[in-house]
Amino acid sequence: MTSLRIAVVGSGPSGSYCAQLLAEESESPVEVDVFERLPAPFGLVRYGVAPDHPKIKTITTSFSEVFEETPGLRFLGNVQVGSDITLDELRRHYDGVVFATGAPLDRRLGVPGEDLAGAHAVREFVSWYGGHPDAPPNAFLLDGRRAVVIGVGNVALDAARMLVRTTEELRATDVPEHIVDAFAASTYREVVIVGRRGPAYAKFTNKEFIELLDLENCDVVVDPADLELDAEQQAHIDSSPPAARLFASFVKAAERGALGREKTVRFVFDRSPVEFLGEDGSVSGVRLAKTSNPSVTETLDTDLVFRSVGYLGKALDGLPFDAETATVPHRDSRVLDGEEVVPGVYIAGWIKRGPTGVVGTNRRCALETVTAILEDTASKTSSATTASAVDELLRSRGIQVVDWAAWRTIDEAERAAGESTGRERVKLHDRAEMLQLAAAK
Ligand SMILES: Cc1cc2nc3c(=O)[nH]c(=O)nc-3n(C[C@H](O)[C@H](O)[C@H](O)COP(=O)(O)OP(=O)(O)OC[C@H]3O[C@@H](n4cnc5c(N)ncnc54)[C@H](O)[C@@H]3O)c2cc1C
Repeated sequence: MTSLRIAVVGSGPSGSYCAQLLAEESESPVEVDVFERLPAPFGLVRYGVAPDHPKIKTITTSFSEVFEETPGLRFLGNVQVGSDITLDELRRHYDGVVFATGAPLDRRLGVPGEDLAGAHAVREFVSWYGGHPDAPPNAFLLDGRRAVVIGVGNVALDAARMLVRTTEELRATDVPEHIVDAFAASTYREVVIVGRRGPAYAKFTNKEFIELLDLENCDVVVDPADLELDAEQQAHIDSSPPAARLFASFVKAAERGALGREKTVRFVFDRSPVEFLGEDGSVSGVRLAKTSNPSVTETLDTDLVFRSVGYLGKALDGLPFDAETATVPHRDSRVLDGEEVVPGVYIAGWIKRGPTGVVGTNRRCALETVTAILEDTASKTSSATTASAVDELLRSRGIQVVDWAAWRTIDEAERAAGESTGRERVKLHDRAEMLQLAAAK
């Protein structure tokens, strides 16, 4: 019986779950090639999830087992779909193509001064401390006094926590050594987190806030005046147990007050950034207006601002794209061009749903996608080519494919670097170094 051949683009949680579920759910033999533009797998689990949250990253152990133990499943790292191989080519070589390419761009605030030096999307900071190969090694100098984070989601809290962690704490993680050194030399003592609405609407979880409260070297300051609830916030808290739990923690933090610790994370609510102020092309402050009364303004002096107001999907060559939602339009995971289904092309994960949900949410999402693929291919004979035809095409273009064995060489080098300092791993940051190791497998 000929195998069904599926290409999955992206090896983050949604791509990895698609690969796993295709193998598990298909009643006939299936071959899956997972294309990944980076030399390393796992998308945001490797390059987004905070380094001091290693438990969440353990999902990569089960994804690795899938890659290692599933017959017919291949990892093709360091291959960018769209430039190294096109969608049309994938459609010729496979019976189905799944895009699981995530949401690699970021929302803007749309205020003057947003592009001044020192004003960044939080994604740039996350990518840097995560050792993403696209992030320059010395992207951040950390030589100021006060950093400002605009936004009150979990990612905002991740960024703030990384700025106040001790060097010892960071040295226990997989953060590349030159980045631990940059944090060790950091002169930032205060991080201000700015919420557009009142505390009842903060989006981070109570668990993440309590983790911040538990840091020994850091005060958490919440202004009691910000905790006076209007009727709307009160109604929200009354109807939302998570919001009520988080609000109770804000009250505790306000009661505890500042304890004179080395560093401070301060929250301000009901404030919207209206302008980034600059000096010589660099940010020097953020002007905030009270959201509930815009005539009341204040200026926060700062030379480092992160906007943490959401990630955005990116249009892909040859695929329809809805600019409004920054996702690829679909019906039951089948890509739509207008009202028409594009045969054999599917989506999963953040490019399908937008940047919401935790890692596990992508499993449910991938199952819907896999169900659609298996329904569509059930009564068809495969018209795909072979794995070696794809290999030959990539070889003819001079592309150095990082297959699973080559990734394992990189993985082992990272683990060995960790072992010498009692850490599980120390990530490699430099793409060229990763590719050199991969070539030597
Ligand atoms: C900063 C941050 C922290 C987070 N922390 C947590 C957390 O603590 N716990 C939790 O449960 N969830 C967390 N999440 C959410 C979680 O990471 C996402 O739900 C999940 O990663 C989305 O999966 P995905 O596969 O759709 O996208 P991604 O993980 O982004 O994977 C997409 C993959 O596609 C690849 N790709 C893109 N374009 C191409 C192309 N053209 N060719 C080949 N490959 C391509 C990318 O390199 C990437 O590897 C966090 C998210 C962020 C942004």
